[in-house]
Amino acid sequence: MEALHLRPLLLPNPILKRVFQTPLSILSITRPQLLFNNNNNNNTNFTITPKTLTVRRAGWFLGLSDNSKKMKLPDIVKAGDPVLHEAAQEVDPNEIRSERVQKIIDDMVNVMRNAPGVGLAAPQIGVPLRIIVLEDTKEYISYAPKEDIKAQDRQPFDLLVILNPKLEKKSNRTALFFEGCLSVDGFRAVVERHREVEVTGLDRNGEPIKITASGWQARILQHECDHLDGTLYVDKMVPKTFRTVENLELPLAQGCPKLGPR
Ligand SMILES: [Zn+2]
Repeated sequence: MEALHLRPLLLPNPILKRVFQTPLSILSITRPQLLFNNNNNNNTNFTITPKTLTVRRAGWFLGLSDNSKKMKLPDIVKAGDPVLHEAAQEVDPNEIRSERVQKIIDDMVNVMRNAPGVGLAAPQIGVPLRIIVLEDTKEYISYAPKEDIKAQDRQPFDLLVILNPKLEKKSNRTALFFEGCLSVDGFRAVVERHREVEVTGLDRNGEPIKITASGWQARILQHECDHLDGTLYVDKMVPKTFRTVENLELPLAQGCPKLGPR
């Protein structure tokens, strides 16, 4: 999920640049081909069902050789790529500590921070596994208008890495706000989300974790868990609220529900 949901003019220049101009260097990165090198044990014991070639097409799903020190970050997969529209697979708990899974997690964190974003799911780097990462920082929040921060109940939290997350709503209270996605960059839409959720799963060491979250963090968790089921925010947005970031502040169409908690 994108980090910034605010009036573009309030953004400092470097952030503006990063949010509104896709750097050519990112566009020009060539994804490496999906390689399963049988000489590499890390590859052979990892289970993947290549259901379709689309996984290959999207895939950054390989162990890079040791001479790839100057590693490029994986591309963020964009809407339309089938990997974003299909359910991801559970990570085998016995594989969590493997070099491959640890590298996927590191890549996800780096890609999220580089974007910048407050959340990322593995399918967004072409990996069809149930892994999410999320983080919201004081710095990101400082760019948002105070009234938005308050209405959204947005508070910073440290990096979370969750494998095989299971999400449960903890109340029937919901809230409607604009949200965006790194896989649908340049756009926003209003999505109704639960205000309180609980997520259980495994951390990057394979230990059970439980997160109780509210407000914006709960929204991020729902957004990222949806990715693992092949659901983008545009699949559940409030109709007629979809718009470009530049049009974010324009009034909602008649008949649209009011933003805020319900
Ligand atoms: Zn997203």
